[in-house]
Formats: sequence, C-alpha cells, structure tokens
Amino acid sequence: MSLPDDKVRLAHGAGGRAMRALIAGLFLDGADPELRRLGDGAVVRVGDLDLVITADSHVVKPIEFPGGDLGRLSICGVVNDLAMMGATEVLALTSSVILEEGFPIAALERLHASARAACLEACARIVTGDTKVMGRGELDGVVFSTTGLGLARRVVRDDGLRPGDLLLVTGTLGDHGLAVLAKRHGLGLQGDLRSDVAPLNGLIALAMAAGELHAMKDPTRGGLISALTEMAEKAQVGVVLSEPAIPLSPAVRAASELLGIDPLAVANEGKALIGVHPDDADRVLAALHAHPLGQRAAVIGRVTAEHPGALLLDTGFGVRRLIERDGDPMPRIC
Ligand code: MG
Repeated sequence: MSLPDDKVRLAHGAGGRAMRALIAGLFLDGADPELRRLGDGAVVRVGDLDLVITADSHVVKPIEFPGGDLGRLSICGVVNDLAMMGATEVLALTSSVILEEGFPIAALERLHASARAACLEACARIVTGDTKVMGRGELDGVVFSTTGLGLARRVVRDDGLRPGDLLLVTGTLGDHGLAVLAKRHGLGLQGDLRSDVAPLNGLIALAMAAGELHAMKDPTRGGLISALTEMAEKAQVGVVLSEPAIPLSPAVRAASELLGIDPLAVANEGKALIGVHPDDADRVLAALHAHPLGQRAAVIGRVTAEHPGALLLDTGFGVRRLIERDGDPMPRIC
C-alpha cells in the first residue's frame, strides 16, 4: 500500500482510518500473521498456555485530569487491552518513563503513586522498567510506555462478531475524552465530567464466566465509532445501534452538545464493547451489572449479515450510517 502523505500528521496517531493506513502501509508488509490481525494485543502460545502480550505509550495532555492521570492511564491502558483478548489474569507489566529535563519530581511521585494504586486494583505488578531523560524542549514533559503480559483461559478477538449477536457496552460513553478536553482548555465544564479510566479485567472475568463472548474491543481513541467500524470490517458484518439505548452521562450529553463533539467518536478508557450470542446476553448483562464498573451496562445494538463493514444508527425516527473519521477529533487524549 502506498502512503498518501510524506509527513506524519496528528491524525496518524488518532486511532482511526489514517492511523490504520499508516500502519498497513509501513508495518504490515511481510509482518508476522499475529501482527497482521491488528488486535488489542497478540497471542503467544507457550506449551498449552495462551499468553497475551500488548504494548502502549501514553502521551495525554494534561497529565492530570478529573478522574485520573497519566500514571493510572498507563496501567489501565494495557490491562484493558489484555482483558479485551480474554487475558484477565495479568502476569506482569513493564513501565518505561521518558522525562524532559526540568519535569517536577513531585508530579512524577504523584503519577507513580497513581500507577501503583491502579496496579493494586487490577491485581497487576510492574516487574521491570526503564527511565530516560531528554533535554529541555526535546520532549513535552513526560511519556509513559507500558507492556503487559497476561494469561487467557479463553482467547477472545475483536474480529469474532457473528450475524445475530447482540452488542453490549459496559457503561457510559465519551467520559474520558470530554473530561480531558474540558480540563485541557479550561472550559469550566469539568465539574461533572470525569474520566472513566479504570482497569476492566475484573469486570471482564465476570462477563466471560457468564457466557460465550464472541468479540470484544475497548473503544479508546476514535471512540465507539472507530472501534465498532473496525470490528464490523474485520468480521464483514453490519452493526445496527439503537441510539436511545446508548448510555451517556448527563454531563457528557451537555458538554458534547455545547462543543459540537460526538460522544461516540471520542476516547473511553474504562469501557468495553462485547458481542454475544442472543441466548447469553441476559446472563452476561446481569454479570456486568453485578460489578461496580458495569452498573450502566446495556445492550446497544445487534449484528447483521446485511451491510458488511457498516455501522448504522437507528435514532428511533430513522436509520443513518455512522462514518468513521480520520481519527479521534482530539490529539494527545491517552
Ligand atoms: Mg484496545
């Protein structure tokens, strides 16, 4: 695949079509078959065990925001990508920190304490890491890069949606993206806006015990629209969403209307999209509701054989197609 750009654009890191085109154009030719699947992580078989490995770098701006910070994000990001593959038992994490000269040590202490607290929540431990410092102006503050290794008793992929499946979401959408945006621009809206950043492995373990999950993905950069478009394209199925069923907090609803930003196109850091057989949906939904992070879980749509690769939104008054953009409308979101 030839690349239409000769310079990197912000959209190339924004989780949508531009990013996938860059990856496909640069990294997939001759790549390992597991990498070519472009999942949330990769399965490495060791003996009769399915280990899952995933890597993530975190560049969020600002580094502290309502509901979380860069330290918490750096743990939850990898724990959630492992969980999306079915690896709810986290075996080990690595943490690399790149710092700009002059970065306040007190802020670094806060980020580290927050990362440790998130590890406790996820029953995860950091077993090795690395620290580098770059000169003033050579980096914007701090970057955290994390690798995760987990064990999957049953591997789940993001390409497994089947016609007839029901689509569940584990809670409200848009919270992380809008909370970070409001804080970054000092919009004075952030009173009720809080990031949802949280480790999902405990919640997903309950869901996996309650039914057979056909497909799973966390709607991070690019939000629900990017994640579901990718799932629909990979499985060559259509997805019809019911707009009234999609859970949104009142604060997200108000802020997104005010700012003209679609809450379905911005990042979440503590939510999962799950495709299940309709016979299992009630049991899985009940399991999600039994966990503190799944209180607002809901069935939001169904999977069809028609319209392969397309995402349709039934508003209750009509049906329209949701088109994925180049990527998340906000850079530096996670
Ligand atoms: Mg993911």
